[in-house]
Amino acid sequence: MDNLFVALVHYPVVNRRQETIASALTNLDLHDIARACMTFGVRAFYVITPFPDQRDLARQIVRHWTEGAGGQLNPDRRQALEKIRIADTLEDVIGQIATERHEPVICVGTSAREGGQAPVTARQLRHRLTVTNDSHLLIFGTAWGLANELLSRCDLQLAPIQGSDTYNHLSVRSAVSIYLDRLTND
Ligand code: SAM
Repeated sequence: MDNLFVALVHYPVVNRRQETIASALTNLDLHDIARACMTFGVRAFYVITPFPDQRDLARQIVRHWTEGAGGQLNPDRRQALEKIRIADTLEDVIGQIATERHEPVICVGTSAREGGQAPVTARQLRHRLTVTNDSHLLIFGTAWGLANELLSRCDLQLAPIQGSDTYNHLSVRSAVSIYLDRLTND
């Protein structure tokens, strides 16, 4: 899907006390989300962190699996990690996408909690993706979720993935895969 992008945000996110924090990168997040993006045809996967050392770490991981031994031993994984782009702010990512596609960039927030000024279902978003050429940036959080200051700036917010009962503590990796499947398959 040429007009679909994914972003994993490490700041601003919240901790268990709903305080705004910055979270550390998780190697597994980069691998699993890159593989999901490759599987479902996402144009690019942005890893966003304000910390230079964390961006360096992300670059090391990507370099190992795209140019280094990891990529030679596992070409499938290399293909997936080649989807990764590393950035320091959401604004930077929006600017890069706008420059790359010359289309409006629609930010779509996600959360396990209902909310957002423009909630959409996965089916509605899937329809948007097929009828407009706008770039859609699906934004996922880390830690205990995206801070409200970021969610409130999103143009749309995807309806939460509902479980069978009250327990709702999916990993971000699971949430990405579930949404991407719903956005690309019947
Ligand atoms: N309680 C947090 C919240 O409300 O988003 C869950 C944080 S989870 C560890 C990290 C990220 O995974 C969230 O920022 C969101 O992007 C995604 N996520 C987790 N569960 C989700 C759900 N049920 N529906 C939608 N997104 C979810």
